[in-house]
Amino acid sequence: MPKVIPVADPLSKPFWDAVNQKKLLLQFCSGCRRLQYPIRDRCADCGSAEKLGWKEVRGRGHISTYIIIEDGRLDRRMSDQPYNLALVTMDEDPGINFYANLPGTPVDKVPVGAPVEVVFEEVAPGQLIHEWRAVQ
Ligand SMILES: [Zn+2]
Repeated sequence: MPKVIPVADPLSKPFWDAVNQKKLLLQFCSGCRRLQYPIRDRCADCGSAEKLGWKEVRGRGHISTYIIIEDGRLDRRMSDQPYNLALVTMDEDPGINFYANLPGTPVDKVPVGAPVEVVFEEVAPGQLIHEWRAVQ
């Protein structure tokens, strides 16, 4: 399944460097004691850029909901249709969600509420991306 090859910018470089080492890092504000994702240049709560660092997380969550993409408009994904697009909620912070295609889970057999774990897929030589897989 062709996927987007990430292009790291200075802000997201620590995230993508960690992904390439099969680790999941999220931003962490030491002032608010909260995780943050998607990546931003400052804390969404207190606005601090200085207190925003990185923290490795376990990469566990569960499937909150999903849709099936049957008639999407992304050219590179049209040949994959239909495919799952699930919303994964992190166990470590229920305010943080990721989108997932759930490799290994058949379309329309998505177990809502089931646990998932982060996995890493190579999309280009030396470049990994994070993905989520249902844990049986
Ligand atoms: Zn903060």
